[in-house]
Amino acid sequence: MMKPSSMRALDTPTVVVDIGRVERNIALMAQTLADRGVALRPHAKTHKNIEIAKLQLAAGAVGLSVATLAEAEFFSRNGVDDLFIAYPIWARGPKGHRLRELHEAMCARNGGGALSVGCDSAEAAIALGEAMSGSKYELPVLIEIDSGGHRSGVPPEAAPIVAKSVAAAGLSVRGVFTHGGHSYGGVEATTAAAKDETDKLTAAGDYLAQAGFDNLVISAGSTPTAVFSASAPVTEERPGTYVFGDRTQLAIGPVGWEGVALTVAATVVSVACRNETWWFAVDAGSKILGSDRVEWLPGYGIIPDYGNTIITRLYEHHGVCDVPAGFDLPVVGQILQIVPNHVCLVVNLVESMLVERDGELTNERLIVNARGSF
Ligand code: PLP
Repeated sequence: MMKPSSMRALDTPTVVVDIGRVERNIALMAQTLADRGVALRPHAKTHKNIEIAKLQLAAGAVGLSVATLAEAEFFSRNGVDDLFIAYPIWARGPKGHRLRELHEAMCARNGGGALSVGCDSAEAAIALGEAMSGSKYELPVLIEIDSGGHRSGVPPEAAPIVAKSVAAAGLSVRGVFTHGGHSYGGVEATTAAAKDETDKLTAAGDYLAQAGFDNLVISAGSTPTAVFSASAPVTEERPGTYVFGDRTQLAIGPVGWEGVALTVAATVVSVACRNETWWFAVDAGSKILGSDRVEWLPGYGIIPDYGNTIITRLYEHHGVCDVPAGFDLPVVGQILQIVPNHVCLVVNLVESMLVERDGELTNERLIVNARGSF
């Protein structure tokens, strides 16, 4: 948390990043996965920022995962040579052209194999093949497996069908990937979801080997499951949120208080009372906190320096909180730091983030370069 002198200098609401904590989070995940002999390909959708990406790569990440083609374009333009679009991209129309251009540019720079993409259907494989038609470089594809999150991906037994369409479309089958999103189902869900990731990826790898596809990347990934699913046959992990931490990660457990590296600083703008119940409003609403929440965690963020009070109601420019028992009323004008529910959405809502080190504001800003674009 920031020192009062630095807090007073803030023009709120604003996002503040504790860069020392970011460095520690990056080092810890890199070391943990290195000890397990599993590669780290952090998901850069969390920060969308080249300086943080460079810290991750310098700490040993093999490359980056991204969610959108625009993120891939941005990181490639800024010198990142190994990118995986961990998404079942639909490569028709302008996206097909952009993907082809990026693939050619990265391969020309690297001599091939620099960009890979996700796929979970024969239709998407055909579209990818047509977009890449005539290219002298094969596009590597990872088949997405549904390990229990039921968002996208195919069951393990369907992996060979998709793989055969990928090969028939003139693309190379690089491996399989999954995101154990059901790890966000509650504190108890994490280890079961990690086991699902491992089991489903193992089965998919076996089915693919029987169908003649080998030398596969086996890629798992979410912040809650990353450490639990990091052992053979998994070869790679793709956590993203670990870099900043947030309230959901605190509740689930993979990031402790010492790892919470991003807060939203907000000013108390109103203190009110009705029927002897006091509440107050800060100048951070859904336009900076995002309104995402997991079902089992009430509210939209917490204020650690104020009894962990919860933002109970959210408007565009107001966050409303109860006054916790035993705490004095806040005063209008007081600045407080909020730990948001889901940090990736917060980052995508701002143009830049202020940097603090050891509680002091620095002159640096982290620009959210790839924000809001697809
Ligand atoms: N991989 C994929 C495909 C994802 O969708 C996500 C997050 O949404 C991640 C990795 C990173 O997971 P987390 O946000 O839990 O770090």
